[in-house]
Amino acid sequence: AADKIDTIVSLSKRRGFVYSCSEIYGGQKAAWDYGPLGVELKENLKRQWWRYMVTSREDVVGIDSSVILAPEVWVASGHVATFSDPLTECTSCHKRYRADHLEEAYEEKHGKPPVNGLADLNCPNCGNKGTFTEPKQFSGLLSTHLGPTQDSGSVAYLRPETAQGIFTNFGQVLQTSRKKPPFGIAQMGKSFRNEITPGNFIFRTREFEQMEMEFFVKPGEDEQWQEYWMEQRWNWYTGLGMREENMRWFEHPQEKLSHYSKRTADIEYRFRFGGSEWGELEGVANRTDYDLKAHSKASGTELHYFDQEKGERYTPYVIEPAAGVGRSLLAFLLDAYNEDEAPNAKGVMEKRAVMRLDPRLAPVKVAVLPLSRNPQLSPKAKGLAADLRQNWNIEFDDAGAIGRRYRRQDEIGTPFCVTVDFDTLEDNAVTVRERDTMKQERVSLDQIQGYLGSRLLG
Ligand code: ATP
Repeated sequence: AADKIDTIVSLSKRRGFVYSCSEIYGGQKAAWDYGPLGVELKENLKRQWWRYMVTSREDVVGIDSSVILAPEVWVASGHVATFSDPLTECTSCHKRYRADHLEEAYEEKHGKPPVNGLADLNCPNCGNKGTFTEPKQFSGLLSTHLGPTQDSGSVAYLRPETAQGIFTNFGQVLQTSRKKPPFGIAQMGKSFRNEITPGNFIFRTREFEQMEMEFFVKPGEDEQWQEYWMEQRWNWYTGLGMREENMRWFEHPQEKLSHYSKRTADIEYRFRFGGSEWGELEGVANRTDYDLKAHSKASGTELHYFDQEKGERYTPYVIEPAAGVGRSLLAFLLDAYNEDEAPNAKGVMEKRAVMRLDPRLAPVKVAVLPLSRNPQLSPKAKGLAADLRQNWNIEFDDAGAIGRRYRRQDEIGTPFCVTVDFDTLEDNAVTVRERDTMKQERVSLDQIQGYLGSRLLG
């Protein structure tokens, strides 16, 4: 339902996933901070991406480049000239929009683009029709000044994508890693865009994290590699439990492709924001040899590959799966959130909120709960929590009724609750409760590490 997003926003704040930034000063618009649970979920997500895309493969290596690159990079890449969005303003209520977003929302609703462009559209804010100004291009680059002077010579840009740090290091990675095409270079990190209309919680912000991989292939093999990576990326989300009914492909029409792209297909998720049902989760683009050629020309350093066996030299084509950390995190939260029923202390069924996150993503892996606050149970449970903490992120909670404590863990997606009770003192075993089925099992303490380890995976 459309209000699911509101549920997630308030749960995020209440439980410590995501807070609004600088809230004590009234908040910084459209900026968000990750709390104790959010940062764990975010790190787990990034770790899963890195494993899947880099360390589990022999043909991909990683780098971590600077956020501020030489300004020449952004001239050569085409960003200084073309990285801009069409800005329009409603002349009635003075609200600003991206013209392309307004037209896309119209098309999604009506199944066809507006015949007369913006003139056909109602302002989403005040409802007036045909009140938009002629769109003006607005640069998406965020700039700053380096050093003590603030003139044009000191301008530097915060990267709007992590990809360029990969292209500029192409030659060095090729040499030091001794890889040859087809091979990839991956990077995760912050990117910055001066978005006109940030919003929809963490979906669109001016500061965000990306996970990108540039896969370098022989020209002519690019189309099949794009198919390959599209399939891989789809499988990454579904492999971590995202439901296919909430995902779809969006193929960019030829006339709307970015300046470097031969083909781009996006994985979209059904975010169900008011106004638009679907939103981009990740783009898989064929960037051709555009970037390597542009940097070769502008820098004077040849960024190509020489195949010694065949004696041929070529500039690789590039397939780029580019994902956003915040958007994935939001999609996984929306997808995992569920309401079902569980028996309360009196055995009566009550509503329960449960976050069915894959155990690999769950911020807390195990909660250790002494049945009651007691001088014998508490130390035993604390000792167990300390042992388990060597391997996983553990919560210890001894406050309140056991049912209430289970609910608190269900709501944040903790896969297992381990209860230490009076029998534990006799049989040296604990009760393990699984989140989704709520089934309970007695497990001996000398087997608990192995029991949890085999169920929590990586
Ligand atoms: P959009 O059309 O939504 O502005 P885009 O096509 O410009 O996105 P890309 O340049 O393909 O986005 O960036 C790759 C990924 O980075 C996106 O799929 C998204 O997950 C993430 N991303 C891009 N811009 C933002 C942003 N402003 N806030 C959060 N994530 C972003």
